[in-house]
Order: sequence, then structure tokens, then C-alpha cells
Amino acid sequence: MSQKEMRLIPKPTGDAIVLEPEAGKLALEGQGGDTYRCGGCKTRLLDNVSHMDVFHGEPFDAVKCPKCGKFNQIIDDGHHHH
Ligand SMILES: [Zn+2]
Repeated sequence: MSQKEMRLIPKPTGDAIVLEPEAGKLALEGQGGDTYRCGGCKTRLLDNVSHMDVFHGEPFDAVKCPKCGKFNQIIDDGHHHH
């Protein structure tokens, strides 16, 4: 179980897939143990997700925080490349 902060990024352009949860809603919720929070306002955006959910589920490039409107990108821990 861990809490991770996402990295703020500029507004994605082109065909980037951006999750835009409604205010008070999570962008993604699963059965894992990780929580990802907005890098700007610390709002939880992904809750109880697993590595599989985040990196091998429905693909997305960024998450727009419904509270502060900033775009967040998940930072891959790095030790799990294929
Ligand atoms: Zn935010």
C-alpha cells in the first residue's frame, strides 16, 4: 500500500488520452493498494489501484484534476519495463 504523487504536466495535445473525472470522483478505482494524488492540490485521483490497473489496463496519458484543473502524469517507478 503506498501513496504516490503524480507529476504536473502541461495540457496534453494531439491525441493524448486524458481522464477527466467529475468533481469529487476518482478517475480510476481498483482493487490494488496504491493511491495516486494530484501533484498540485493533493486530491486523490486514483484510489486502490494496482500496477496492472495503471500501466496495463485502459491506457491513458494524463489525468485532469477536477479540483484544480491541472494535468497530472503518473510517474513509472521505473523497475518494470518490458
Ligand atoms: Zn489538483
